[in-house]
Amino acid sequence: MDQISSSASRCDVAIIGLGPVGATLANILGQAGISVLVLEKEAAAYHLPRAVHFDDEVMRVFQSIGLAEALLPYLALSTGMRFLDPAGRIILDWSRLQPTKPHGWNTSYRFHQPELEDVLRKGLTRWPSVAVRERCEVFAVEEQADGVVIRFEDLGTGKLCAANVGYVVGCDGARSLIRRLIGSGQVDLGFHERWLVIDAILKRPRPDLGDVSLQFCDPERPATYVRGTGNRRRWEITLKDDEPSARMTDPARVWALLSRWITPDDAELERSAVYTFHSVIAERWRRGRLLIAGDAAHQTPPFLGQGMCAGMRDVANLGWKLIGVLRGEFGDDLLDGYQTERFPHVREYIELAVKFGGIINTRAADVALPNTSKSAENTLQIRVEKPRLGRSFHWGRSDQLGRLITQPTLSDGARLDDRVGPRFCLLVERDLICSAPASLAHKLAARDVVCLDSSHTEVGDWLRAVGHKAVLVRPDRYVFGVADNEAELSALVAAVS
Ligand SMILES: Cc1cc2nc3c(=O)[nH]c(=O)nc-3n(C[C@H](O)[C@H](O)[C@H](O)COP(=O)(O)OP(=O)(O)OC[C@H]3O[C@@H](n4cnc5c(N)ncnc54)[C@H](O)[C@@H]3O)c2cc1C
Repeated sequence: MDQISSSASRCDVAIIGLGPVGATLANILGQAGISVLVLEKEAAAYHLPRAVHFDDEVMRVFQSIGLAEALLPYLALSTGMRFLDPAGRIILDWSRLQPTKPHGWNTSYRFHQPELEDVLRKGLTRWPSVAVRERCEVFAVEEQADGVVIRFEDLGTGKLCAANVGYVVGCDGARSLIRRLIGSGQVDLGFHERWLVIDAILKRPRPDLGDVSLQFCDPERPATYVRGTGNRRRWEITLKDDEPSARMTDPARVWALLSRWITPDDAELERSAVYTFHSVIAERWRRGRLLIAGDAAHQTPPFLGQGMCAGMRDVANLGWKLIGVLRGEFGDDLLDGYQTERFPHVREYIELAVKFGGIINTRAADVALPNTSKSAENTLQIRVEKPRLGRSFHWGRSDQLGRLITQPTLSDGARLDDRVGPRFCLLVERDLICSAPASLAHKLAARDVVCLDSSHTEVGDWLRAVGHKAVLVRPDRYVFGVADNEAELSALVAAVS
């Protein structure tokens, strides 16, 4: 058996799967100089689109790995989603206004998944500590006291190989081997439906199709329309129980289903495929040195466009924790909080997506949706709020704990995330930090905590809006703890020193 990595050259982390989630984690760890082995069974990125939407928080993750600007040319803004009854009346309006506040990026973007994955993969070439091996399929892992031996087949040569690593993160998708090896079952949130997903490329302009995503809440044939980037348009159409998947991708049937919107004179079919949309969350995201992220840990119906987004949040959360543990700055138990924090957060998104699915299927817009109001025209409108993390690595008491902070612009025009980088950050009222003892400044410097005070107007505005004098923020930009006086500030800083 090939020993591709001797114990002298063992990697800190093996990432199994180079989908968008694995590629993002590899960029996060590579940027920190962590040695990473990525094993991917396919020869190239999956060439057909799946995800078409991500949000401002995910754009901040791409910003954190220096790839937001490289992605911008491939993105289009998304203006929102409307749910229509069979007569075409709006029964629910989810408009996505596009201010670049509060997160420093637009609220919602459309993209073509192969282009995104290409940018993420090219980004990996910047990090000498990241090795990518394609056509390598992992089939076993053996946990040892101080590491893990991964066994995989090089599909190009048929050779069986092994590598020694510190931690394994399974970003290996919905049928995750690592999830099964962890021994995790899945919590079932009740939604399992077959949908036909059709991507078409327009041959001639069809502005009447519109920019806004549409949910056709027709009990006979629920369907979704999404405007993609460029000439791409997506339809997702429910299949009935007596419609076999294999027959429904036949082009004649596909065109028959599309006939209420387009004909072969308007567009070419890029692909059609049947997906079963699930709503499940893994019961265990960690066992010892094995962890999972992305679709390996959860699956959602796509009605909120949050499946991949949730995976990006997973690795933003897990990434800084792995870096801190591997550098000896935190104990290994910090990794237990990964699931505690992420599970309830992703569950909230999946439950809302399932409710959206219920509306599309039954037109029951008055199912208990959170954060709704009626417009002047009596249309039901919804705001989708970002959930809070479950409680784990937080300090003190405040309803801000576990919330994503905004991204203020600093007085010199820089964005907060660019200034802070992958570090902790203290946002603090100027009078409080000026009156603090010199020892506090030393502790902040020793722990490499960036301190930004309220002389940056937008920092001061934000502190006043959340009602605290100081907020300590983690590298993933979620609130760790708050303080309102000198004694609390000193205790807050001590909690990470
Ligand atoms: C129709 C549809 C629409 C969607 N729309 C959206 C949307 O608008 N917004 C959104 O955020 N999400 C959306 N999603 C969800 C999104 O596509 C997925 O959440 C995302 O692609 C998952 O990424 P991942 O990296 O976790 O897994 P994957 O992309 O599945 O990658 C897993 C990788 O692991 C590799 N692998 C697996 N096993 C092994 C092994 N044993 N050894 C080596 N390699 C292995 C696989 O080859 C694969 O490359 C949609 C999904 C579908 C199907």
